[in-house]
Amino acid sequence: MNLHYSELAPPLIGCLVCHTEGTITEFSPQRWWRSTFPLLKCSHCGSAAYFDASPEQWRIQYKHINSAPHYHYAAYLFRQKRWINEEEALEFSRQAYIQRHRLQQVEAGNLTWLTPIVLTEAIETIHSDEEALLNIKGCQLGRRITAEEQNNTTIAPVDSGTLVVTNRRLHFWGQERPWIYEWNAIRSATYKNNTWTLEFNDTHFIEHLADQDRLDAQLFVAVINSLRMKR
Ligand SMILES: [Zn+2]
Repeated sequence: MNLHYSELAPPLIGCLVCHTEGTITEFSPQRWWRSTFPLLKCSHCGSAAYFDASPEQWRIQYKHINSAPHYHYAAYLFRQKRWINEEEALEFSRQAYIQRHRLQQVEAGNLTWLTPIVLTEAIETIHSDEEALLNIKGCQLGRRITAEEQNNTTIAPVDSGTLVVTNRRLHFWGQERPWIYEWNAIRSATYKNNTWTLEFNDTHFIEHLADQDRLDAQLFVAVINSLRMKR
């Protein structure tokens, strides 16, 4: 039996989001979809995507991705409601797989893969017995000011610079001055899309869009929470 090329395309064999094989069903276009493309649905994670395959190539456009935390990064990568060509889609899928594996390791308390880095510039506040794990440029340090009369909070910029995470504490190498935060100074670590926020007990916070970094925002937050628990 000769299989058509499109029947052998990776999105039909396995789900690009959850990486389970044999869970994809292809539905023919329906008039009410406002689309002439077939829809692929994954019975494992529930993702749904329009699929367009020609004999030479394919492309995919996600309509829905499971909102569970373990699919957060895949949802972020595939988030644009646009057609993604096969090369990019396979790369996103690969990145999502690695990130999910790393996240599971961190949640199990395993940070051995996070090997110490060598800093190109000396940071005076880092002691010789500290290991630098992450060096994140372009972070913003701000302060939340709660107005007493109205119940609203405004934000004031404080400093901007590089955050160095060591195995002991956080060093914020600001343009104004260095700032040091111990693990117990962190009130919360959260992420939204690919931006993470660290809130401190003293009303300061550090925020960063993690697009060019070693770790995405979700993995960064998991690492910070793991380091806080290990202290
Ligand atoms: Zn799936």
